Amino acid sequence: MTKKTEIDQLKLLAKRFAHATRSNHRDALDAIATTLSFPHWKALTVEVGQGWMPSEDDLAKVDAFVREYFPSLNGRPQFIEQSMSRPVGEPIKVGGIDGHAYQIFEFSGDIRMEGEGWRILIGEADFSQPLVEIEATHKETSPTNDRGFVEKALSIAVGEAVIVRAGIASDWPRRSTKPNAKGEVAHPIHGDMAAEWYCLHCDGKMTGTQIAGNLWHCPRCNAAPLDIFTSPWWLEGSREKPTVIENVKDRRQPEPEVKVLDTRPTLRLDEQSISILLRVALLEDANTPGERLGALLAKISVDDELGAWITFDMDLWPEIKEPEAAIAVADKLDMSLDLEVTCETFPFAWPGLGQVTTSTSEYVQMMLDAYEERGVVLRKKDDE
Ligand SMILES: [Zn+2]
Repeated sequence: MTKKTEIDQLKLLAKRFAHATRSNHRDALDAIATTLSFPHWKALTVEVGQGWMPSEDDLAKVDAFVREYFPSLNGRPQFIEQSMSRPVGEPIKVGGIDGHAYQIFEFSGDIRMEGEGWRILIGEADFSQPLVEIEATHKETSPTNDRGFVEKALSIAVGEAVIVRAGIASDWPRRSTKPNAKGEVAHPIHGDMAAEWYCLHCDGKMTGTQIAGNLWHCPRCNAAPLDIFTSPWWLEGSREKPTVIENVKDRRQPEPEVKVLDTRPTLRLDEQSISILLRVALLEDANTPGERLGALLAKISVDDELGAWITFDMDLWPEIKEPEAAIAVADKLDMSLDLEVTCETFPFAWPGLGQVTTSTSEYVQMMLDAYEERGVVLRKKDDE
């Protein structure tokens, strides 16, 4: 009976492999046979007929091969659990290509391969477009300028992506990754079963085979599994109709997009940052609570051609007071600075008192007293 058990063990491993790689049982059997140096499964069975038996080592070899694609071979941990528990900075693979070191990371099903000044990103879905990013500072010297290098790197990254997808598929039920005879597949998250599916993002209509073949990401817009539904309920009562997503024969992973990026910290000296810097300087210039209010409420305008100008409220900022720090900041930024004083409606702040002390709490007390004596104090609770 030993013979039957060992061959059955291979068949069981083939089943797991088919589940992980979303392939036919027959293709999986061939892959197992190839691992043991047979051209295909048929050849293996012929040998078995002549008395050949897989050895312990053979079984271990196939087990290791399948385990790479089906990590939860002996139960837990499942791929997604393993992925979630891995520290973010821990690579799943390290190596070198033509003397250039790289690290590969996996996060939420996505692959990121990194080297000095370059990285390659590949999404979870089978047909997501790989992205090659090159640091602008490394543009001239980057190994990614060599087409051959990029091809080698891509094939390694794609290899890891295939294993990651297999891990995800192995966590999902087989009926989510392999359509039944009626073409129906079950949603991997909530289990709805249907032969036709709709994408919430692009209103695409697709078959079970199409959606299962792209790891439950929309084949047109790459929307995630949670956006794929059995009916286009969001189009109810609207004139929009779902559009059929064409079946592409022998679809391949798209050519990578190459982008040059400058990720160095960038100081953008625009209106917003310049006015904040000028206001900080005004606060440095302000000594009293009144002046600090003047600094906070001053109108600061910045214009590419005209430079900067500050409009103070004359009740809050003494007309004779030079904002020295603000002038120095404008000078550092190579901007001309104009100062104006205007009289707005009498501010709430009882301006005269703002210059009497440098303590804000003293000033607030004096202001409260002044309003209570000569005016009205409305508190929030009085409105209720
Ligand atoms: Zn879509």
